[in-house]
Order: sequence, then C-alpha cells, then structure tokens
Amino acid sequence: MALIVQKFGGSSVKDAERVMNVARIVTDTYKAGNQVVVVVSAQGDTTDDLIAKAKEINGKASKREMDMLMSAGEQISIALLAMACEKLGCPAKSLLGWQAGFNTSSVYGSARIKKLRTERIKVELENKNIVIVAGFQGICKYDDITTLGRGGSDTSAVAIAAAMHADRCQIFTDVEGVYTADPRKIPNAKKLKEITYDEMLELATLGAQVLNNRSVEMAKKYNVQLEVLSSYTNKPGTLVKEVTKMEKMLIRGVTKDTDVARISILGVPDIPGIAFKIFGKLAAQNINVDIILQSVGRDGTKDIAFTVSKANGPAALEALKGIDVISDFEMKCDTNVAKVSVVGAGMETHPGTASTMFEALYSADINIQMISTSEIKISVLIDAADADQAVAVVHRAFFPEEDNN
Ligand code: ADP
Ligand code: ASP
Ligand code: MG
Repeated sequence: MALIVQKFGGSSVKDAERVMNVARIVTDTYKAGNQVVVVVSAQGDTTDDLIAKAKEINGKASKREMDMLMSAGEQISIALLAMACEKLGCPAKSLLGWQAGFNTSSVYGSARIKKLRTERIKVELENKNIVIVAGFQGICKYDDITTLGRGGSDTSAVAIAAAMHADRCQIFTDVEGVYTADPRKIPNAKKLKEITYDEMLELATLGAQVLNNRSVEMAKKYNVQLEVLSSYTNKPGTLVKEVTKMEKMLIRGVTKDTDVARISILGVPDIPGIAFKIFGKLAAQNINVDIILQSVGRDGTKDIAFTVSKANGPAALEALKGIDVISDFEMKCDTNVAKVSVVGAGMETHPGTASTMFEALYSADINIQMISTSEIKISVLIDAADADQAVAVVHRAFFPEEDNN
C-alpha cells in the first residue's frame, strides 16, 4: 500500500463537473489500494474574486483580514470534493489547514510553514478515509489563519509529502507537465520528461507559474520527487527530481516575468562605499534586489541601476531618499520592463548560449537593457511591450519548430 499525495489547482476544480472529475482520479487511486491525501486550491478564479471583493470595501485592508478572507476559497473546494468522493462511494474527510496541522509564521499573506503536525491526517488515513486538505493556509502562534502566498497550495502538498514520507507527490494542473515555455503562449513548446530541482526552481522563480518556487525549494530540501501532470488528460507528465537523464538539451525553458521594476540612480559620486550605502538601505527595508548594473565611472560620477518587484518600487525609492549623496531628482523607477530568461544546466558546459539568445533578440530588433547570468540561467531586462515576442524568438532559436514533434 502506497501513500500518495495529489494536489489539484483551481482550474482542475473550477465547477461541479471538474470536481467530479477530480473525485474520480482520487477515488480510483484509493480503490487501487493506496492511502490518499489530497490538497486542493480554491475553485477557478475564487481567490482573485475574493481579493476584488475586499478592494470594494477597503483597498488597504489589513493582511490578517485578507488572509481570513482568501482562505475561505479553499474551504469551499475541500468540502465539495469530499462530497464528490462520498458520492462515488469512498469515505472522505476534508480538513482546513489548521486541522491538518499546518503551523506557520505570522507573516500574514506570505507565511512560512514552521511545523506540520501530521497526527490528524494519520488518524483519518488509518480510519480508511481519503483526506482532503485545504491548500495555501495554516495557523500562526496567535491562532490566526494565515496564507502562504499566491500559488501556495503546491507548497502545502509538498510539505505533506515530505512530512509523511509519501511514495508519490502528484501536482495535477491544466497543462500536461512542465514545458520549454508556457504552452498557452508558445504552441510548439515541448513537454519535458524530467527536470532537475535546480532548473525547476529557476524556471519557477523567473516566471513559470506551473509550480510555486517555494514548493520546489522544499521538494529539493526533503528530496520529494514531484510529478506535474494534467487533470484533464491521462498522460505521463514531467518528473522534477535531483538528477535527470542527460537529454540533448542545452536549455530547458524560456520564461517571462513582468513583475519587475527598474530603479536607476544617475550621476552618483564615483567613490568607495556608494554601493554599500544603497544596497544596505534596501536590505534594511527587506527589499529584494535582483539584477544590478553599475556603469564605468566618468568625470567623477557613475550610474547604478537595479531591479526589484513592482510592489517594492515605491518603497525602494523611499529608502534611497535617506542617502546623503543621492537626491531624489537623480532617481527614477521604470515599471514598463520585463525579464526574459533562459534556464538549463546544459549551458554550464556549452559556450554560446548567451550569444544565441542575444542574436535572437537582435533579429527581432529588441533592445537589451540589463543582463544577469548564473551557471544555469541568463536573464535580460527588456521593454515590457517586447516580452511576448522575445519569448517567442528566443524559444524558436533554441527549439526550432521542425525539431518539435
Ligand atoms: P493551478 O491552478 O493548477 O495551480 P497554475 O495556473 O498555477 O495552475 O499553473 C499552470 C499554468 O502555468 C499553465 O496553465 C500555464 O499557462 C502556465 N505555465 C507557465 N509557464 C509554464 C511552463 N513552462 N510549463 C507549463 N506551464 C506553464
Ligand atoms: N488559491 C490560492 C491562489 O490562487 C492558492 C493556490 O491556488 O495555490 O493563489
Ligand atoms: Mg498554481
């Protein structure tokens, strides 16, 4: 008897018909003699709708109340799925995050799982129930409901799989696996059979929404092998694991991230300590900085530019105002930018990946504003209006259409 964790995202449970479809997948797994723990997200766009409802009342609602509201979506879907399993003749019990033992930090809106007490889940499994857990939520030390950040149900599922040493952790979604680019935008994107945790972590962090990056981080830490697959078709998906068979693939994927703002500081004195002053201020405000570019000094001054998330743009400008050598008229924040990246462990041993990417962008007359690289990724910052075309031309450069079948 195996213990299997199955997670279903919002589109997989969006209406009664999809809930029944999920119930069939879950009960088939159960009837095959397995113990099954299911994690579900809110139905369809419920979480977005709840956020919109809050905004109608108070655009600046406290994060505590937002968590109370947003967590409601998952409460609906777990109950409906349990009822659907009952209808198919299988005993099922739905549990909210706190009932399932999710103890989190008290950072409302992006809480971290601190401890997962699995006793209740174990009791329900021993009583031969299918256990259906609300994803994305937990409880903090003040006994308040918390949420784990958007897309957090993936992390809930991986946490259960890790804590219970599950034999399998399946992430069911609305596409058939992890592709070389978003298959909804790039029709000839190729489904990957396997991908390493490190590559998946980069893809997820750089914009591939198919898995939440914290879930991948946790899967790597606890060595939980993930399978990403479709709840719509019955086809093998993508395995996310430590080591993969060497496929002849220089890169694994192309991604786009539009949640980027670029801060430029022009004409700062070219003297020691400036970078420390700038980035020290940002660190003190907990502002994460991504790409950093510093120009060669000229006439005693230099320019420094860096990127932050859009939400952090205003706070970054504010933090920098306190630095004596920088006055506000020398700073600007540009939100009309996007980051396009290629990811793949293959590039470590193959020179020329960057030039292939840059040539593709040049051929489409797309200007690169900033570049950043690591062993397994190259990111460029470009005009937001060019982002979709950039992904398409870069993807074509690495995966010519005739190769894809
Ligand atoms: P769920 O509701 O199941 O959590 P999400 O909407 O969070 O699903 O993630 C699935 C979506 O991720 C797909 O519909 C697809 O458009 C998008 N996506 C972006 N990049 C990729 C990629 N490289 N491979 C697969 N899907 C991707
Ligand atoms: N329902 C939450 C969201 O929309 C969590 C999730 O789907 O993973 O972000
Ligand atoms: Mg998701």
